[in-house]
Amino acid sequence: MLRTHSCGELTKKNEGKKVTLVGWVKTLRVQGKVSFLLLRDRDGITQCFLNDELTKKTSDITPESVVLVEGKVKVRPDKQIRKDIKTGEIEIETSKIEIISKAEVPLPIEVEEETTTHIDKRVDNRFLDLRRDKVNAIFRVRSKIAQHTVEFFSKEGFVNINSPKLTESGVESGAEEFKLPYFKKTASLAQSPQVYKQMFVISGLERVYEIGTVFRAEKSHTTRHLTEFTGIDMEMGFIENEHDVMDVVENYFKYLLTEVSKSCKEELELLKVKLNVPKKIPRLDISEIRKILKEKKKNIPEDDDLDAEAEKLLSEYVKEKYKCDFVFALNYPWKKRPFYHMRPENNPKGTRSFDLIYNGVEIGTGAQREHRLEILEKQAKEKGIDLKKMKFYRDIFRFGAPPHGGVGLGLDRITEQLLNLDNIREAILLPRDPERLTP
Ligand code: ATP
Ligand code: MG
Repeated sequence: MLRTHSCGELTKKNEGKKVTLVGWVKTLRVQGKVSFLLLRDRDGITQCFLNDELTKKTSDITPESVVLVEGKVKVRPDKQIRKDIKTGEIEIETSKIEIISKAEVPLPIEVEEETTTHIDKRVDNRFLDLRRDKVNAIFRVRSKIAQHTVEFFSKEGFVNINSPKLTESGVESGAEEFKLPYFKKTASLAQSPQVYKQMFVISGLERVYEIGTVFRAEKSHTTRHLTEFTGIDMEMGFIENEHDVMDVVENYFKYLLTEVSKSCKEELELLKVKLNVPKKIPRLDISEIRKILKEKKKNIPEDDDLDAEAEKLLSEYVKEKYKCDFVFALNYPWKKRPFYHMRPENNPKGTRSFDLIYNGVEIGTGAQREHRLEILEKQAKEKGIDLKKMKFYRDIFRFGAPPHGGVGLGLDRITEQLLNLDNIREAILLPRDPERLTP
């Protein structure tokens, strides 16, 4: 490797050691004949002192250039310890500096921690935007969320699957599909792994999960919708009802928030986020929610979904009453749910379904699925779908299908809500929406 140490690694204990660091030039401050260079890499920042001779040689170094610094670790006097950087108790007495790659000026966006540059312009220059520690931190947290998700579901005996993304046609409404030529046919990009997760539960894996790309041709311009996002989907067999699924989802979020609090301490501090691990996530029936919202002057008709404002109001209520950032909303109207959601015996207008709302935004939808073919066919018909045309889906229920259910969550939305970001575009490296296909 080019370096002996990272920029966040050196302490008093390394005093007198000869080291080589490489990274980006954060700033170069000339003070009379000498200068101070702040060198940054993924681990932190180190101050490098340049004597008059080196200062002369480096007068043309530009911010964000990549440089290599050789020198000795020197402990700074107590009074001069820099509290603003991790390695503030030392600096490098530079003996050699080499420019590896010079950055052009001016930079297309500012790389300051606090910036007012619009998210669109930042995404246009995402490779530079990520040089900012706070932005970088978001993606370190996202990566840990994905890691802890894998840990949790493997621990619970779920098998990780990869289902096709090139599909003949989605089971759900055709309106949201991206179509593309596929030899002599037209293919659709998968808008959910729904049918496949069900297939592999029924096939005997019993518990499956997938972290994979989901495509939806939604024309919406909101702070919570993308046309390409990462779904966290799971499905499980032999459940008694939808509450068994919610139990797993609840344990997942308890585990996730506990583990992220531990593994992302520095990042959460930097982003000023304090996680509130749920003890018990309240489960409220939609009829009860309608009453709660009515008191808040928000009317949701009986056959309707909760809209964005309703989710926000409900979250505020739950936060106050139950001190919880999460809430399950249960029993969504049959009119608004897909044909494969199971209906309760005593209430054909409802479904054995739930949404999970986190800090005011839906992050997941789940349900017990209908596994009895006769009823499934009837339900499909009611929604104007001919199951005979979906032969491969129909067939999976013909040869022994256990009662089952699952949930679809979004990694981007979870990251957005967990970190209190104001736009889902902050939580994905390169967002895709109706206007954006590059970079
Ligand atoms: P919404 O009502 O917010 O549009 P949805 O109910 O259409 O979402 P589902 O089909 O229930 O979405 O998808 C399951 C999960 O996938 C959602 O709860 C969300 O976390 C995520 N998700 C869905 N659509 C998007 C999208 N366009 N962009 C980002 N994440 C999404
Ligand atoms: Mg949903």
